[in-house]
Amino acid sequence: MKKITIAIDGHSSCGKSTMAKDLAREVGYIYIDSGAMYRCCTLFAMQQGLIAPDGSIDEAAFQRRMSEVQVSFRLNPETGRPDTYLNGENVEAQIRTMEVSSHVSPVAALPFVRAAMTAQQQQMGQEGGIVMDGRDIGTAVFPHAEMKVFVTASDEIRAQRRYDELVGKGEKADFQAVLANLRERDRIDSTRAVAPLRQAEDALVLDNSHLTIEQQKQWLLDRFHELTAAS
Ligand code: C5P
Repeated sequence: MKKITIAIDGHSSCGKSTMAKDLAREVGYIYIDSGAMYRCCTLFAMQQGLIAPDGSIDEAAFQRRMSEVQVSFRLNPETGRPDTYLNGENVEAQIRTMEVSSHVSPVAALPFVRAAMTAQQQQMGQEGGIVMDGRDIGTAVFPHAEMKVFVTASDEIRAQRRYDELVGKGEKADFQAVLANLRERDRIDSTRAVAPLRQAEDALVLDNSHLTIEQQKQWLLDRFHELTAAS
């Protein structure tokens, strides 16, 4: 059977990556977390002193060094999930901190950052058989993806999920700060000039505010089987 391309887009912290990972594992496809790639760009810029404490970015220096950012994913045999590598170093934990979250959307709005990451993503998805989640996968990266899903959930529910995740990892978290961060990221992501977050016209919409992980997994699998049976 022909392997299709699956694009899962939506707002911050709505569980896209959980559902994308589950679906990929279930159908034997490769999973790519495009948000992790923008987080790597942000971490790189922070490490290289290209982001000042007030959040301003040295865009000219960053652009000159953009080709130094190479992102890859490797399966972690302990967790059974892919870890993110920046230039060969495992940065899976470092890219999930609130500090990276607070700088990532302005970084992801820079046209040269998007061009570089979009090219790497398209390269990874050349053969199909991929589930990629993000903000612009069904609109800009793979506009011809056979299956597109747009996911959303209420702000408070999304903030609670992110808060629980941070606390679960032993990070200090403040619910109001998490809520403010995700609203601000959604605002920047939806209003940027290049590849803004928006629902593709041909996307299936999933509001998972009141769904369990099991229910959303089943919903996605049903849609996948409908689509692949029809093609
Ligand atoms: O998915 P995640 O929340 O980890 O993504 C981090 C950030 O990366 C988002 O807030 C968004 O600014 C950016 N992003 C993007 N385009 C994507 C994926 C993520 O601009 N395809």
